[in-house]
Amino acid sequence: GKFEGGGEISPEKLLSPVLSAFWDEEKSWALDVYRRHEGYEGLRKALAMSPDEVIAYVKDSGLRGRGGAGFPTGMKWQFIPQGDGKPHYLVVNADESEPGTCKDIPLLFANPHSLIEGIVIACYAIRSSHAFIYLRGEVVPVLRRLHSAVEEAYAAGFLGKDVLGSGLDLELTVHAGAGAYICGEETALLDSLEGRRGQPRLRPPFPAVAGLYACPTVVNNVESIASVPAILHRGKEWFRSMGSEKSPGFTLYSLSGHVTNPGQYEAPLGVTLRQLLDMSGGMRPGHRLKFWTPGGSSTPMFTDEHLDVPLDYEGVGAAGSMLGTKALQCFDETTCVVRAVTRWTEFYAHESCGKCTPCREGTYWLVQLLRDIEAGKGSMSDLDKLADIADNINGKSFCALGDGAASPIFSSLKYFREEYEEHITGRGCPFDPAKSTAWA
Ligand code: NAD
Ligand code: SF4
Repeated sequence: GKFEGGGEISPEKLLSPVLSAFWDEEKSWALDVYRRHEGYEGLRKALAMSPDEVIAYVKDSGLRGRGGAGFPTGMKWQFIPQGDGKPHYLVVNADESEPGTCKDIPLLFANPHSLIEGIVIACYAIRSSHAFIYLRGEVVPVLRRLHSAVEEAYAAGFLGKDVLGSGLDLELTVHAGAGAYICGEETALLDSLEGRRGQPRLRPPFPAVAGLYACPTVVNNVESIASVPAILHRGKEWFRSMGSEKSPGFTLYSLSGHVTNPGQYEAPLGVTLRQLLDMSGGMRPGHRLKFWTPGGSSTPMFTDEHLDVPLDYEGVGAAGSMLGTKALQCFDETTCVVRAVTRWTEFYAHESCGKCTPCREGTYWLVQLLRDIEAGKGSMSDLDKLADIADNINGKSFCALGDGAASPIFSSLKYFREEYEEHITGRGCPFDPAKSTAWA
């Protein structure tokens, strides 16, 4: 009943998780538990098809990349040239680091075999005999869990020589990064994996043409690959029965900030923040939503006017932002928006890899201006300077990190210019920092 009137998604569909179906079961990460839940059945179905049929099937399902950009997964697989005589690689991007994004790491921790099964299917499809998982380095318990899941999969014949008698030989290597946000950018990740300092490469050529060791490479997000087994097992029509024509299927949203129950919420694409808040207990008692991000801090912020925007690629795009990583960071009325934007911008300045001038210099300048404004030392002309610098970063940087840094500047000035002005005219932050818990 409580979801009625909030869109076209039935309560059954909202409450029938796939990726997170048995996360709360004892030893949910173990192979025998996974197999009790249809585990490795999608692989059997895939191996009964030809590799090209598997690619076509995933393409027809409409699955779009869950790392942020929403690029069609099947199409990416199809780009891999065949018969070129070169090795092909699959690299899973598990370097989840976008502020507020916490869905791949919990998925790997609770259900690593869904990723491993997806990897075997993808490698069969793109004719790859070596896959890599590039994991965010800080999450050591997840690294250990992945290592033991990979061992289990080798022992059961899902990895190694002649997987399930299919003729596929597949090695899987788990690699932990060293904690740089930029190494989540796919080409910086490849450089890092090759043993160099992680900095983005010029694209094109895209990794599908020249990726790892200059060979054709598919780089896919954890959640994208982990969604493939269920699509194969339950069918593309089932997958398409959720979400919309252009954004089909289910997905994981990360809910964080001033909410009663932060965490991962699985729902069909197109769910709204209002529905997710209803489902999860809402904002913390006695408080109301002030602003939020649909896909982490790199995506333009939304306000309480956007509670009913369908959280799919088209819906969020039409409302002026991007779905990105589906990281819904919610801030209530106790939060100073200038402080929040300052904190995000400090992050981008710290993580800027330094390769290109607009991002390296621009993020530094933004931080100086924002800190001055927040401290009551700003002037009205600083607001134009902020917009001007952001404009010189956006679209003029070498990779998406620069654009991401400009996003919160533009959107906060659009929705909360008055709050910036209050900081300037009032010579300081109108929020008592002691009462603001957002960045305590
Ligand atoms: P992009 O749109 O440039 O590319 C998306 C994917 O499609 C890439 O794998 C790319 O190789 C492929 N692709 C695009 N055009 C292609 C072509 N013509 N031929 C072959 N392949 C092609 O996006 P991006 O710069 O890779 O990533 C930006 C996204 O990253 C943002 O949307 C942001 O949300 C997300 N992001 C995620 C995190 C995280 O922690 N998950 C962190 C920061 C940013
Ligand atoms: Fe590096 Fe920033 Fe330029 Fe990306 S935009 S290449 S992170 S300096």
